[in-house]
Amino acid sequence: MFIEPGTRHTKDRGTGWIEVISGSMFSGKTEELIRRLNRARIANLNVEIFKPGIDVRYDEEDIVSHNKNSIRSTPVNMAEEILLYSGSCDVVGIDEAQFFDDALVDVVNKLADAGKRVILAGLDMDSNGVPFGPMPHLMAVAEYVTKVHAICVNCGEIAHYSFRKSASESQILLGEHDVYEARCRSCYLEGQKIQKNE
Ligand SMILES: [Zn+2]
Repeated sequence: MFIEPGTRHTKDRGTGWIEVISGSMFSGKTEELIRRLNRARIANLNVEIFKPGIDVRYDEEDIVSHNKNSIRSTPVNMAEEILLYSGSCDVVGIDEAQFFDDALVDVVNKLADAGKRVILAGLDMDSNGVPFGPMPHLMAVAEYVTKVHAICVNCGEIAHYSFRKSASESQILLGEHDVYEARCRSCYLEGQKIQKNE
């Protein structure tokens, strides 16, 4: 489990750092983000949470994870807006980071340079197994990267693919249980083979 390198030392040193939590759907990314943000709150730090305006699955303003843990967040349409809205806070949380464009990389570096701890959660790959949006770049510039894993619904092994059960080609179909499931490499390949033959 991830242990913070300290909760308050950004205040002494002037610079912050970047943490990335990545993994497939149903891997507990958002739960882990919420856990870290709640711990920062217990340490009396000011926390702001952002998510892309596109993510309107359940609720306009709350980050809602699959286990119904939720935390209030601000939807933003462009990464640069995060700079405007995070002025006085110590810790910036960003959920569904994969839906932002590459401008997010510059934004989170600026925030960390300015003394903020930035915690991002996002899908590492889309359902075609292709690295998703700015995630590869974010993982490269972050001080700390945590990969969380789901369990394959087919065989019970560790899963790191988001397998799409329907045939839609859209990369931004949002995560619902009836559209996606977590699969290990072996079961993911098997499912793709079956879909190609259908
Ligand atoms: Zn499997």
